[in-house]
Formats: sequence, structure tokens, C-alpha cells
Amino acid sequence: MPSTRDLDSGFRDAAQAIFDVAKELDRGFRITSSRRTRADQQRLWNNYVSGQSDLPAAPPGKSKHEMGLAVDIARPDVDPFEDEYLQRLGEIWKEAGGIWGGDFDDPVHFESPDGPSDAPKVSQAQGLRQSFVDRKAELRAVFDFFNPFS
Ligand SMILES: [Zn+2]
Repeated sequence: MPSTRDLDSGFRDAAQAIFDVAKELDRGFRITSSRRTRADQQRLWNNYVSGQSDLPAAPPGKSKHEMGLAVDIARPDVDPFEDEYLQRLGEIWKEAGGIWGGDFDDPVHFESPDGPSDAPKVSQAQGLRQSFVDRKAELRAVFDFFNPFS
């Protein structure tokens, strides 16, 4: 079962925060992909180019999943292209500085705007993480408003 544990240390808390918010909307949300090996990415790419996947995949070596800087979140019984919660989560993710796959036909995909945390440049992922941690209570209130019976 994929989890945020495998992710880059500078991105892990942000990914966990958005997943926690998703689970508050619906306990059915799952992490469907976190860090991938090159072999995983090759398999997904092959499926995509042969038309066996509705969701896009980056070529091997080009996916942030291989760096532990992207996470996929979905509900197994809901079409991600029709999932209003993913739309809302994506908006919040982008507002906090993240890259949301819904802008490129991949609504399950939540990506760090930055490179690996051991890269020499300043890690924006740290800011993203902090932004989510700081805003968690506020986000919860927004979702309670939209979804009072959950
Ligand atoms: Zn993804």
C-alpha cells in the first residue's frame, strides 16, 4: 500500500496534510501512488502510450513520483474526472503553491513545485508543507461548510 512515508522528507508533511484533509471529506480516499521506481514508471508509461490508462503518465526519468515529490490521491469508487472533492483539493493545493495534475488531465496528482530537498536551491516544498500545517484548521472549516453532513 503506497504511503507518504516513502516520499522526499521535504514534501512528506505537505502530502500527508492534503491526504488528511481528503480523508476528512471521505474516509474512502486512498493514496494510489507515492514514490515510484524507474520500473514502476516504465510500466505506467507503457500502459499510457498503449492506451490502457485514462490517466496520463510521464516518461521514465521525467516523473516527480520517481523523486518522491508527487502523490496520487483518489477514491476507488469515484471517477477522478468527475470528483468534485479532487477539484476542491486541487484548488487549495495550487493556492498553497503546489502543482495540481488536474491542470494536465491528471486530477489525482498532487506535486511539489520544487526539486528534492537535498538539492542546493531553496526548497519551496518546505513552505508548502508549512502552509498546509498552518491552514489545516481553516481548511477543515471550509470543508465543513461545503459538506456539513460528513
Ligand atoms: Zn501522479
